Amino acid sequence: MTNIKSSSLGYPRLGEKREWKKALESFWAGTMGEEDFERRMKELRLSFLKKQKEKGLDLIPIGDFSCYDHMLDTAVMFGIVPKRFGKSAGRVPLSTYYAMARGTDKAPACEMTKWFNTNYHYIVPELEQSEPFLTENIPLKFYQEAKKELGIEGKPVIVGPITFVKLSKGYEPEEFSSYVDKLLPLYETILTELEEAGASWVQIDEPILSVSLSDDEWQILKQTYEHLTTAAPHLKILLQTYFGSVDDYQRMISLPVAGIGLDFVYGRSETLHNIHVHGFPSDKVLAAGVIDGRNIWRADFREKLGLLEQLKEIVREENIMVQPSCSLLHVPVTTELEKDIPQVLQDSLAFADEKLMELAVLKNPSAHEDILENSLRSREALAQSSFRCLSRPSDIKEIRDSRPLPFAERQKLQEEKWNLPLLPTTTIGSFPQTREVRVKRRDFRKGDISKQEYVQYIQKRIEEWINIQEDIGLDVFVHGEFERNDMVEFFGEKLKGIAFTSYAWVQSYGSRCVKPPIIYGDVEYIKPMTVEETLYAQSLTDKPVKGMLTGPVTILNWSFVRDDIAEKEVCEQIAVAISNEVKALEEAGIEMIQVDEPALREGMPLKEKEWQEYLDWSVRAFRIATSQVKDTTQIHTHMCYSEFDDIIEDIRALDADVVSIETSRSHGELIKAFETGQYDKGIGLGVYDIHSPRIPSVHEIKDMVERALRVLPPSLFWVNPDCGLKTRKESETTAALKNMVQAAQDVRLSV
Ligand code: GLN
Ligand code: ZN
Repeated sequence: MTNIKSSSLGYPRLGEKREWKKALESFWAGTMGEEDFERRMKELRLSFLKKQKEKGLDLIPIGDFSCYDHMLDTAVMFGIVPKRFGKSAGRVPLSTYYAMARGTDKAPACEMTKWFNTNYHYIVPELEQSEPFLTENIPLKFYQEAKKELGIEGKPVIVGPITFVKLSKGYEPEEFSSYVDKLLPLYETILTELEEAGASWVQIDEPILSVSLSDDEWQILKQTYEHLTTAAPHLKILLQTYFGSVDDYQRMISLPVAGIGLDFVYGRSETLHNIHVHGFPSDKVLAAGVIDGRNIWRADFREKLGLLEQLKEIVREENIMVQPSCSLLHVPVTTELEKDIPQVLQDSLAFADEKLMELAVLKNPSAHEDILENSLRSREALAQSSFRCLSRPSDIKEIRDSRPLPFAERQKLQEEKWNLPLLPTTTIGSFPQTREVRVKRRDFRKGDISKQEYVQYIQKRIEEWINIQEDIGLDVFVHGEFERNDMVEFFGEKLKGIAFTSYAWVQSYGSRCVKPPIIYGDVEYIKPMTVEETLYAQSLTDKPVKGMLTGPVTILNWSFVRDDIAEKEVCEQIAVAISNEVKALEEAGIEMIQVDEPALREGMPLKEKEWQEYLDWSVRAFRIATSQVKDTTQIHTHMCYSEFDDIIEDIRALDADVVSIETSRSHGELIKAFETGQYDKGIGLGVYDIHSPRIPSVHEIKDMVERALRVLPPSLFWVNPDCGLKTRKESETTAALKNMVQAAQDVRLSV
């Protein structure tokens, strides 16, 4: 038995079978009343705490549970409710809480954005005109609840003031400190009341410290924590960072807090370096995030125990806590329900519950020899399995990562070949996925309908939409993606080395969950994945049908990825696999091919100094996937965002013949990035917002195109919607596309 304690930063909200999601959605649909809903939430909340207790966790996080999102909870606790949701004096009602998250007929929802570099999205608090006040001490409420109901002496978790304000919007940079000042007394009250109620630890999350803070901001942080410690001198503050090494370690360890939480998984070597070079204060507790909170592999105990040995040389054992590198929110609940994946993979996985077990092992290795050995054996078995034992195919090294001719020359050849009108019109890939389409796919999966019936059904949809596209008068068609449930899963299931679980869901935003594929072995191409549907579509029309693929970077970024080789290498393997599909399409006569990379930006590291390395290998992967084609083959790509300024050179380096991007929600700002003429390849600016059911008028689309043409040459310009249309209704889609085509035709007359 060691003197090390175990702790955790947060637990998944979803429940083993997404019970949480179901409750939220029933409540929203009105089939569950508010009282029942509150009862259900409490039940889930307590059951999660109980489970953590049973796993032997010493410090159990409290108040990380949420009915939607923890940033929204914090905003609402501080009465930060935008005026459009009505006045609220005291406690914010649940209806207002969900109105902020989801919007209403009268008030658009608050913005939602990526939580650091994860696939979780938080609700962005709007600080303007707000006079924060404490509507309710929520950490206290849950602390008391856990104590009373379960006898758990928990560790309340709060988003820290610096991170909270930094991630909020609606203020000028110079107002930063005044907003922190406004919140400070509220934090003080929370802490004082927790202290009075007998809490011994509180975890204050400041993940922003892993990104970067200015000198002034550090100063503000320091003063803030001085105030907080003074306000509640007997409450121990654990200042928690995660998602990377801290920006300024020395400043961090000199803060007057009782404990410091560091990430020893992401940014491991920097964190270790810091601790070796600068030491660690003997009066503080080190909460060491040694278990990977974001990936799903069993821990390598040899490495973890070695790491702990290193830490013990610097920090006294009784001052060490072991914990996951971040909240377990980002991993699924338990591997126990998985039955349909290869055994050797199943044995190598650790989700939230299994990670808690791993903490128990680290705390007391001699009591858990069996788990220790088992874990080492499983990791070894996977490493030695045929999935990972392939010697690298030699073509990887020799494969081309650039097209033989530069864009300007390809463009001439492509113009001759395709003979498209000026400002060609097209769409991004998917057409509406009606209930019927989803039901057919599911029936086929379950074996309820035959392959033949299914294929015929898909062909019928393709035919229907080829006819609609003819009617509308689009220039470049797509087949509509009716056979795809999800743009990554569809390809993942057809490639070697990628597995799909049954229950491994994680929260993406609100009740929306994703079940990321697991890339566990060498990724390899097996056989054509999209040729049949695309060819069928092409057989029905004289217009070109664009092939439609998901790019390697997106497949990588939306998956859980093996951790034994570099991501860059995994990405390269996927790129080679996708390049085979590109070639298969080309050989079948499909010579306009779109390779979507909506997640290219999502994979960007938090620290700016690491961006270029990531961009270099991810751009190269895209180029590997798309360069093995003839000069006349036209490669398109699509991205779902519009912030381009800082990566425009990298987008250019993708060397796609046409890139389509989202613009309609950026209020024309994007065009600025292109004003300088730095972008000199084909570009399709999304001319209307597909996220809204509203049908854009011919006039407004025309306006948008004309505005763009003031800075972009018409010969490079394409007209398309912002993104795929799978979430829209059929009638909305056809009406909007008709207006889009009309607008393009009108503009053609005047350029
Ligand atoms: N081709 C995909 C579609 O249209 C692109 C989706 C995306 O960009 N997220 O659905
Ligand atoms: Zn998109």
